[in-house]
Amino acid sequence: MSSHSNDISQFVDHIAKKNPNESEFLQAVEEVAETIIPFIADKPKYKDSNILETMCEPERVFMFRVPWLNDKGEVNINRGYRVQMNSAIGPYKGGLRFHPSVNLSILKFLAFEQTFKNSLTTLPMGGGKGGSDFDPKGKSDNEVMRFCQSFMTELSKYIGQFTDVPAGDIGVGGREIGYMFGQYKRVQGEFTGVLTGKGLEYGGSLIRPEATGYGCVYFSKEVLNFRNDSLENKTVIVSGSGNVAQFTVEKLLQNGAKVVSMSDSGGTIYDKEGINEEKLAFVKELKNVKRGRIKEYADKFNAEYHEGKTPWDIECDLAYPCATQNELQVEDAKSLQKNGCLGVFEGANMPCTADAIELFREHKMMFSPGKASNAGGVATSGLEMSQNSLRLSWTREEVDEKLKGIMKDIHENCVNHGKVDKEFVDYVKGANIAGFVKVADAMLAQGCV
Ligand code: NDP
Repeated sequence: MSSHSNDISQFVDHIAKKNPNESEFLQAVEEVAETIIPFIADKPKYKDSNILETMCEPERVFMFRVPWLNDKGEVNINRGYRVQMNSAIGPYKGGLRFHPSVNLSILKFLAFEQTFKNSLTTLPMGGGKGGSDFDPKGKSDNEVMRFCQSFMTELSKYIGQFTDVPAGDIGVGGREIGYMFGQYKRVQGEFTGVLTGKGLEYGGSLIRPEATGYGCVYFSKEVLNFRNDSLENKTVIVSGSGNVAQFTVEKLLQNGAKVVSMSDSGGTIYDKEGINEEKLAFVKELKNVKRGRIKEYADKFNAEYHEGKTPWDIECDLAYPCATQNELQVEDAKSLQKNGCLGVFEGANMPCTADAIELFREHKMMFSPGKASNAGGVATSGLEMSQNSLRLSWTREEVDEKLKGIMKDIHENCVNHGKVDKEFVDYVKGANIAGFVKVADAMLAQGCV
């Protein structure tokens, strides 16, 4: 037990009392507190100003009604949110999630993580997150459009290119961003970079759709390189089959890895032959256009389908959880370790539970937290904002080079603050401290006490 464990549990208890029934938010706060409280113990400027507690309180939260008509003309009511967590280093920035599980706890955890992540990118972006309990699955394009228009009619009052710039997340891709951008423009009467992840025809950036997955693989290459290893010929499992998973797989294939699984909320496919570019193109069409289930991959390519299962019991060298929070639990971590897995790189936000991460640490497995390894998405959103302000577009190569550079810098920053010995880096500690210092210093300079 660390000499700071009393302080940590007191702090977490205090935050828990103020935020009852917010388990995901508390999980994210506890993970940060475990590394930040020991770090600030001998630094009065942070400790005495109670800056960590201030960071746990959103600057502002909006919650609103979203009524919309389905194709039968019936009225449906959803709930919309925007959590504006921290604007110390730039306008609030963070995605919108449309999923039936969305609630305040999940959005506060995501906005809290986002603050640290955005700080790590080296770009001037504060932290925010929003969304709705709306479920786009099974809805027609027209229903999704009417929902997005109603959602943005209200949200447009609280966002703007200099105040808060949302992007996509689970359930929000190019289609939804397009509908919301159109509605913002109608309501506000201005064409500005108020959202990122836009289509290329109206202010989007090349590489933004690919950025989270590509960035995650670039980051994992840095981690492997630090251990004099590479992706070449590694057997890899990936969870999810949405935006982040698709482009993680694409970049893994380009780097000579063999990817044997993907999944969705229905189950996991296990393709022993490996997913190749043609099979990945099928997944993209299936998920982005037909909006079907991953099971269809197994039927088409004669792969195994594990109904209702996650991929974590499949033998692999490396694992990339790219679906959702808490999808990889301690039992899964045990089977990964038992099967010889060398490292886990989070593409999703908080996909691994705290005890799973503890197990990786005990066994000195490579592990990178989402706030470091999936920061490429928001970093490229930052690049989209820059291009919108400059009113020009960079080439694919230019954006990709900048993304690579940012992931390399994040890695270096994590090593600076998290290096334990010649071989082992605690990336959780490194990312938390590096992310914290910049935001905390900006808050103190601005008199946020
Ligand atoms: P998508 O909606 O494109 O894909 C989500 C994938 O995860 C789908 O395969 C989905 O399956 C699966 N999934 C979602 N919820 C669950 C669940 N409760 N149980 C099992 N599977 C689930 O989202 P993204 O790829 O954009 O996001 C994935 C993760 O990456 C999230 O944690 C997100 O916060 C994070 N992230 C995304 C970024 C981005 O740029 N998009 C940036 C940084 C992080 P199904 O279709 O069956 O629901």
